[in-house]
Amino acid sequence: MYEMSTQDWPLQHQSATGWIEVIAGSMFSGKSEELIRRLRRAKIARQKVQVFKHRIDARYSTEHIVSHSEMRHESVAVESAAEILARLEPGTEVVGIDEGQFFDNDLVDVANELARRGIRVIIAGLDQDYMGRPFEPMPQLLAIAEYITKTHAICVRCGQPANYSQRIVPVEGRVAVGAADMYEARCRRCFVPHADTPTPHVVEERVG
Ligand code: ADP
Ligand code: ZN
Repeated sequence: MYEMSTQDWPLQHQSATGWIEVIAGSMFSGKSEELIRRLRRAKIARQKVQVFKHRIDARYSTEHIVSHSEMRHESVAVESAAEILARLEPGTEVVGIDEGQFFDNDLVDVANELARRGIRVIIAGLDQDYMGRPFEPMPQLLAIAEYITKTHAICVRCGQPANYSQRIVPVEGRVAVGAADMYEARCRRCFVPHADTPTPHVVEERVG
C-alpha cells in the first residue's frame, strides 16, 4: 500500500479538489461581513484571493465589496460570470463573489469550473427577492454547494430573526439596487410581499 511521506504534502496540497461555499440570507443578515471574514482569514493563511462582484452593484464602491457595517474588501467589478473566469489569475486559491443574485445562471457553471480547478469558491447572495421568491441563481448554487451558511438579520418590527428583505418604496422590478433607503429586514410574520411603509423607528433613525 502506498504511504504518504511528509515530502508528498505540497504535491497533495496542489492537487487538492476545490469546493463551493454559499452564504445566503436576507439583506442586513451579515452575508458580506461573513464573506469578508472568510477572505481575511484566507489571506492570513497566505492564500491567493480574488474577489468579484457584479457591475450592477456600485452602491458604495466599484472597487470594493462593502458591508452595511462598513467592513470592506477590494474587489473587481465584472459584467458576467464568464468574465470571472477570464480574469482569473494563475495561482489563485480562493475566489469570493458577493451579491451572487445579480449574476445569471451561468454563475453555476462558472462556480463548478472554478471548484474543478481546485479553487475554494465562496459566494454570498440574497436567497429571496423582495416578494419572497427564490432568487436565481442562488437556489441552484445552494444545490451544488458543499457548504451552506444561512444568515439572519433582526426584524426591525419585532426583533425576531429576519429572513426577508422588505421593500419599503413603491418601485417595480426584481432588481432595484438599494440599502436602508429601500429595504428593511423583516421576519415571516412582519413581511408583506409587496412594498410597505417603513417601520417608524427606522425613519426616525434615518432623519436623526
Ligand atoms: P448583508 O450582506 O447580508 O446585506 P452586511 O454584512 O452588509 O449584510 O451587514 C450586516 C450588518 O448590518 C450588521 O452587522 C449590522 O451592523 C447592520 N444592520 C443594519 N440593520 C440590521 C438588521 N435589521 N439586522 C441585522 N443587522 C443589521
Ligand atoms: Zn417581525
